[in-house]
Formats: sequence, structure tokens, C-alpha cells
Amino acid sequence: MGSGRHAAEEGTNVSYKAEYIWIDGTEPTARLRSKTKILPDGAELPLWGFDGSSTNQAAGERSDCVLKPVFVCPDPIRGGDHKLVFCEVLLTDLSPHPTNTRARLSAVAERFADQKPIFGIEQEYTFFKDGRPYGFPSGGFPAPQGFYYCGVGADEVFGRDIVEAHLDACLAAGLEISGINAEVMPGQWEFQVGPLSALDVADQLWVARWLLYRVAEDYDVAATLDPKPVKGDWNGAGAHTNFSTEAMRTGWDPIITACESLRERRQEHIDGYGAEIEHRLTGLHETAPWSEYSYGVSDRGASVRIPWQAEIDKRGYIEDRRPNANCDPYVVTRLIIETCCTALEKAGQV
Ligand code: ADP
Ligand code: MN
Ligand code: MN
Ligand code: MN
Repeated sequence: MGSGRHAAEEGTNVSYKAEYIWIDGTEPTARLRSKTKILPDGAELPLWGFDGSSTNQAAGERSDCVLKPVFVCPDPIRGGDHKLVFCEVLLTDLSPHPTNTRARLSAVAERFADQKPIFGIEQEYTFFKDGRPYGFPSGGFPAPQGFYYCGVGADEVFGRDIVEAHLDACLAAGLEISGINAEVMPGQWEFQVGPLSALDVADQLWVARWLLYRVAEDYDVAATLDPKPVKGDWNGAGAHTNFSTEAMRTGWDPIITACESLRERRQEHIDGYGAEIEHRLTGLHETAPWSEYSYGVSDRGASVRIPWQAEIDKRGYIEDRRPNANCDPYVVTRLIIETCCTALEKAGQV
């Protein structure tokens, strides 16, 4: 196609909308922000900027922050040639902003790339409407947990239309979603991303989260990653992180080495697995207490589960069940690579 003027004469689009998305500096849990840039057809995606003083990202006097595109995909909300442009945040000298956890992961992923680590992350979340979980009656509680997980029927499942619209949006954007399911509490759901490399799974998870908020917005419903949205006898929301290296995918000893290495650095992992993790990892509701580390085959009450199939095959992957729904996947995957891949290297299991 020629210049924009010619395109206009031909009656086709002369521009497209690029939705620049980034992670802000809200503490203790960062939030997503986005704004739209109109770009001429065929134009490269430029660096862009924003006012860091409105996002808790202003470093000192200087409030300008830089957006650098790192993951671009079709925009399934606007359709056409419009794009979602997921960005990392830089300072004006183009060095990583202190809130940029992706940059730190990038260095670690490169250092251990030869072990070919991959991840599948199970993102649990909860819909809220009128200040209570979607499906909770006003002024009370629904029937206790037991039939909601993977349920069917209007008395068991709440928000499926939104969930289906989100799944379709993710697939149209080209995200590698591996599945969805209704969760243990009414209004609680899960989608899984991966398996992919650490950077890819984390970039795509953040974009899938943005799409979740954006799709639910049209239904006047809020999605939250709150790790314990309802106190008491109701399941929390996690982000089980499934992990393997090439050695783990081909042998059993590396699986045990990885599980043991996570015991040694358990506190660093807990500290990086999402705010208020102690409220969720109580030892009840299919969790292990945050203060104790354990692993076991098929054990959903352990910190780390080895799937039964992995024990039979004597190879496969492990599931770290500790990360919260509100975790930063750049931090979680970095910690797992640092801990497990260092131990595997030391053991000569690479
Ligand atoms: P659960 O039984 O715990 O609910 P799910 O089916 O929800 O498990 O999620 C398992 C995740 O693990 C999926 O995202 C899947 O793609 C991922 N996965 C499968 N094999 C591997 C592997 N070898 N390494 C890392 N992740 C994997
Ligand atoms: Mn799952
Ligand atoms: Mn789940
Ligand atoms: Mn799981």
C-alpha cells in the first residue's frame, strides 16, 4: 500500500490503534495501565512515554518514563489491524526502571538458556459484582464449596459468558492458552498459559490479565487477582507454576534435585510469590502452610507437587503450588530458574 493519502483515496484504513500496556509502580501489588496511540498504517511501533508521577513510578524530580514495546499481538477487542503493544518501562536514559522486573528475569533466563526451562502458569481469579463475588447472594453466602469446581448449570457456575469471551479474545490475540476451568468458589475461575519460556509465559500472562479486566469491563463485572477474596472457609486464588528443564523432561533425578533446591531457598520464594501470601497458604484449602516446605507425588497439600504421570514416566515437570494469583510472573519464574537451574548445574544434571 502507498502513502496514507493514497490509502484514504482507496477507502481503506489510513491508521491503526496501538494500545500500549504497561505495569505500574503500585505497591505492594503492581497494576496494569494502558493508553492508545494512533499510528499511520504500516508504521513501526515507536518508543512512547507517560507521566510516572501518576503511576508511582516517578524517580525523583523527573517524572517522564519510557515505554518500550516487548510483545505485540492483534487487538481482539478492536479487531481489524489494531494492536496490543505490551511494554517494559525504562528511565529516560533507556536503562530499566526500578519497577521493571522483566529486565532482571531477562538476564537470568539468558544465563540459564542452555537448560531450556519452560513454564505453564495456572492463573486463578475471581469476578466481583456489586461488591461481592459474582454468584454470592446479597447479604449472605451461597451453599458451601463442593459443587462449583468444574461445575455446570446456573446454580453452580457464574460468569461463563465472560470467561468464554475472554478465552476467545486470548486465542484471537495469539496467546498460548492451554485451558480454562471453573474453580472451587463461586465466581472463581482459572486459565492456564504455556508451556513457554519464562519471558514468553510472563509477557503473555500479563496481556491475558489485561484482556480479562478489559473483557469483564464490558459486562460491568470486575475481575480481581486478590489471593484471598473471601475470608473463612473459601478457597483462595493462586497461580500454580509448572516448571521443567530439558533434564527434568528426560529424567527423574533432576526432578528431585529441583524439589530439594526449592527447600533451601523457601523463604526467598515465599517473599517473591505475591503480597499477603500468608493469608492464602494457611495449610487449609489445598495449600501447604507458607512457613513449611514440602513436596510429594500427587500431593495437593504440598508446597510442590510432582504429577503422578511424572513418577510413572520417571520424567516430566513439577508444580510449585505456592505463588499467589497476584504474583508477578517475572519474579516467580526468575526465582525458580535461579534456584533450580543453579542446583541442576551444580549437580551436573543439565
Ligand atoms: P492442574 O492439574 O494442577 O490443575 P493444569 O492442567 O491446570 O494443572 O495446568 C498445568 C500446566 O502445566 C499447563 O499450563 C501445562 O501447559 C503446563 N505443563 C505441561 N507440561 C509441562 C512441562 N513439561 N513443563 C512446564 N509446564 C508444563
Ligand atoms: Mn489447574
Ligand atoms: Mn486451580
Ligand atoms: Mn494446579
